[in-house]
Amino acid sequence: MKRLILSAIFLLTATFAFPQKKEADVIIKSAAIIDVKTGKVISGKAVAIKDGLIINVFNETLINGYNSKQILDAKGKYLIPGLWDMHMHFGGGDSLINENKNLLPLFLAYGITTVRDAAADISPSVLEWRDEIAAGKLSGPTIFTSGPKLEGYKSVWKGDIEVGNAKEIGLALDSLQKLRVDFVKITDNTLKPDLFLEAIRQARQRGYRVSAHIPSALTMEQIADAGLSSVEHLGYALKAGSKVEKEISAEVASGTLKGKAFNQKVMDTFDEAAALSTYRNMAKHGMYVTPTLSLNYILTYFEKDNHKNDSYLQYIGKGLQKTYEGRVKRVEQDDAEAITFRHQLFEKTVTTLPLLQKAGVKILAGTDAGYLNSYVYPGIGLHKELELLVKYGLTPLQALQASVINSPDFLGKKEYGSITAGKKADVLLLDENPLTNISATQKIFTVIKAGKVFDRKALDNMLSLLNRN
Ligand SMILES: [Zn+2]
Repeated sequence: MKRLILSAIFLLTATFAFPQKKEADVIIKSAAIIDVKTGKVISGKAVAIKDGLIINVFNETLINGYNSKQILDAKGKYLIPGLWDMHMHFGGGDSLINENKNLLPLFLAYGITTVRDAAADISPSVLEWRDEIAAGKLSGPTIFTSGPKLEGYKSVWKGDIEVGNAKEIGLALDSLQKLRVDFVKITDNTLKPDLFLEAIRQARQRGYRVSAHIPSALTMEQIADAGLSSVEHLGYALKAGSKVEKEISAEVASGTLKGKAFNQKVMDTFDEAAALSTYRNMAKHGMYVTPTLSLNYILTYFEKDNHKNDSYLQYIGKGLQKTYEGRVKRVEQDDAEAITFRHQLFEKTVTTLPLLQKAGVKILAGTDAGYLNSYVYPGIGLHKELELLVKYGLTPLQALQASVINSPDFLGKKEYGSITAGKKADVLLLDENPLTNISATQKIFTVIKAGKVFDRKALDNMLSLLNRN
């Protein structure tokens, strides 16, 4: 009995004299923490991670207050939130499901901890992976997906839900709701402009964010008024910046303007003041733009680099590589005049990027990687996209914001976007400061996904298992 009392007293004393240590799975110490919102680099803090969440960012001198299973010494390293690729596609048909599944570790190995799948033809698998990854049963980036996208009858794309009237739009949205999709994607291969606007309105009424390819017969103002959340691809911003946008839209609607003549007129009538005014209206409506510069850049300058000997191809399945052929064949047919024209069009289009940013339109970093889009690679592609965003007018900080802040913001996911308590423990440690040189995002020391640590050796092991040769 006496012994029992003594030990009880001891326990009490211990509890009061030495405050109980807090538990953590991982503590990162000595890293320079980048606040991607402000661009400030913070030192002297440690980051505690538990159960997949950042539970505290605290003064490093208090590190003894923690019992941690693992302590990462990150002296000289830079800590940022994990990267998001906001426009990619899992797809290419059922025979490529496994090759697509192999992209999951590839994204992680390159520090892409979240992807937004912008629709294709293997949605049942994508939805399954999304749920398995969220439940911790499958390793890969967090997936947000549109599921099948909306189109008109007999569209060129496979896997779409085809709609021809307002009622069918409602039914299509019912089916997407059953799939618990994360946003709605609409394209306009055969979908008529009035139904396109109707689809946006109905999807927004149900609370979805909507991203789209937009019909050239509509003005950006009409599209903003309908409530579109994000414009996919930068080319649309060029037309929206024409001082005769309405006239061009009407000519497209009547079928009198198309193809090269359309592009020429858009370039010739682009006007910075008109563009800024339209972009400010987009910003006022809370619209985002995903430029996806990578594919256009690769195809525009294909005569300089045909990418056929890229070493990264070792990670891309043969079936997926085969889907690259269509776009390659098209650009290979271009004669000297066509090559000059595509250079002009691209260089004109990218001038809209800093104007959009200036007008307050939020930019999303997305690649269009996956299938079809030749040599735009899942994983490294996002880093290349960040480089292009900087090359064409964003600061490194703005480019990082486009990936790690604007992306979760677009989807309303408050549990991402910074290295602070309560956020998901999806983080990267880099060897160099990406604010000085955006290419530093490629110098990955460690990836932490949902609290799980992949050091350089583990990442290299993942990559060696993915080697398709
Ligand atoms: Zn796409």
